[in-house]
Amino acid sequence: MTVFSTESFADHEQVVFISDDRVQLRAIIAVHDTTLGSALGGCRMYPYADEASALRDVLRLSRGMTFKAAAAGLRLGGGKAVIIGDPHKDKTPELLRAMGVAIDRLGGRYITAEDVGTTVADFAWVREGTRHVVGLPEELGGTGDPSPTTALGVYHGIVAGVAHRLDRDLRGLTVAVQGLGNVGWSLCRLLVDAGARLVVSDIDAALARKVSAEFDAQVVDPDAIYAAQADVFAPCAMGAIVNDQTLPRMKFRVIAGGANNQLARDEHGKQLRDREILYAPDFVINAGGLIRVASERDGFDPAGVDLQVEAIGARLRRIFELSDRTSAPTQAAAMQLAQERLSGGNASNSTRVERVA
Ligand code: NAD
Repeated sequence: MTVFSTESFADHEQVVFISDDRVQLRAIIAVHDTTLGSALGGCRMYPYADEASALRDVLRLSRGMTFKAAAAGLRLGGGKAVIIGDPHKDKTPELLRAMGVAIDRLGGRYITAEDVGTTVADFAWVREGTRHVVGLPEELGGTGDPSPTTALGVYHGIVAGVAHRLDRDLRGLTVAVQGLGNVGWSLCRLLVDAGARLVVSDIDAALARKVSAEFDAQVVDPDAIYAAQADVFAPCAMGAIVNDQTLPRMKFRVIAGGANNQLARDEHGKQLRDREILYAPDFVINAGGLIRVASERDGFDPAGVDLQVEAIGARLRRIFELSDRTSAPTQAAAMQLAQERLSGGNASNSTRVERVA
């Protein structure tokens, strides 16, 4: 296995390999960039086929966190951790505590949180080894479930996208929501309150029926959502849903949703632009949860968090305008702005709520 020549190694400040035989712990912590502050990112537990896959995953994800935090105007850098193992079989309190100790050795350069294969409850054990943890349950001094805050950011992003592309508000518009879990359900509530009509889909048919009853939404089959008659598409399930198969079927004017990695490939961003479908870059629009958990470090202020999350709308408007001026896809415009903030130097250049002109 190679490390420095791994494609995603690009510019990582520090990569730490952890081994603790007493508790069967094998893990990697990747600190990508701390220009703007400590590197924050979740700790994933997954039965990787081999060490190289684990390394690739942690490097790719930690780099993504750098741009997400920078785009969100946070004084945070990007990092991530992976534990190699099956969360259903290999996870023990001792292993989690040892992971906490390993994180603590980095002295706060890396701050951990829940991710795939780890739960909020697991972090009660991790916290015995380190205080550099966010996303804890309220009874442990955390901010609880971040999903409603993620949904709020997505809502502000949809409002911004609709204003930019259609020059109007949401009343009477139709929004197609894919995935009705923690983010999707909260988003449906906000959209209906704003006067939008809903078309929804979920692979869990019972959940879709519940949402239909609650919000008077039209339910369609999971595959039919891509061709739904709707002004806005809000993907809130899984990634890569804008791809060679789905894109030709889409007649939406705006795509703005909470799912991570919505574009299967970068070139789909350009294809969306060519088809005049306005795309709200995922790592900008879905940062509400990150903003919320990050606030735990400064003392959680719900009103302050809501203001920061509202600023996602303004930030997206700036991205849309840059994309219009330069003809770059919105995803590329968002990367450019995040990169500018990173190369602008230090966090003192940013205010707590970065207002975007
Ligand atoms: P969740 O697991 O609560 O909900 C996902 C829902 O999508 C489930 O109801 C599932 O049945 C449904 N689903 C899965 N495949 C589907 C398909 N093919 N078609 C339709 N529905 C499908 O997850 P969540 O916390 O609501 O997160 C949703 C997305 O947002 C994920 O991509 C997640 O990575 C991303 N995200 C979430 C947060 C957060 O705060 N929860 C923050 C940032 C990004």
